[in-house]
Amino acid sequence: MRTGNLFVISGPSGAGKGTLVARLLEEVPDAWVSVSATTRLPRPGEKEGVSYFFLDKQEFLDLAREDGFLEWAEYAGNCYGTPLASVQREMAAGKQVILEIEVQGALQVKEKMPEARLVFIEPPSLEELERRLRGRGTETDDVVRKRMDTALVELSHKMEYDIRLVNDNLGEAVAQLVAYVNETAEQK
Ligand code: 5GP
Repeated sequence: MRTGNLFVISGPSGAGKGTLVARLLEEVPDAWVSVSATTRLPRPGEKEGVSYFFLDKQEFLDLAREDGFLEWAEYAGNCYGTPLASVQREMAAGKQVILEIEVQGALQVKEKMPEARLVFIEPPSLEELERRLRGRGTETDDVVRKRMDTALVELSHKMEYDIRLVNDNLGEAVAQLVAYVNETAEQK
């Protein structure tokens, strides 16, 4: 059996993290993605325990105080955290554990578990990122500008990650991510 490893995936909104992680789960049979807790409200279609565990602020802070999180951070006015127990359980079972989290949380993980592998997903360019964030034209200029500002802060941390993958061609980015996970799992 391959040993369990921890992979942390970050990158600005619009870089395509979600799609890459979904494809990784299809292609690596022993990959497992952690479900985070958050204080933000569910978006249409999001399911409790699948998308997130939706907690109120008090429940979240109680769990944080009891050391229930591997890491947690505030992002855009809400709290997000990785439940510790399920990550430990899946790593012990030999899974390739995937966290899709923002930069502050990723750096906390590296601090606590230096053996964790940090993967930063980059957009091909800032122009392309802005084009993706504008999407179908439903976002206001103000929203797009705020997301671009957040993206610049996130991009300023990319050298603190173990590898950077440019998501220009989805198929190639998936292949690189799958290869990285498999190589890491087989190294030990
Ligand atoms: P959203 O609200 O769009 O689902 O997520 C906002 C940001 O929070 C994304 O960058 C997402 O990767 C990040 N995030 C999701 N779960 C966690 C978590 O458990 N911890 C941290 N630090 N960030 C998270």
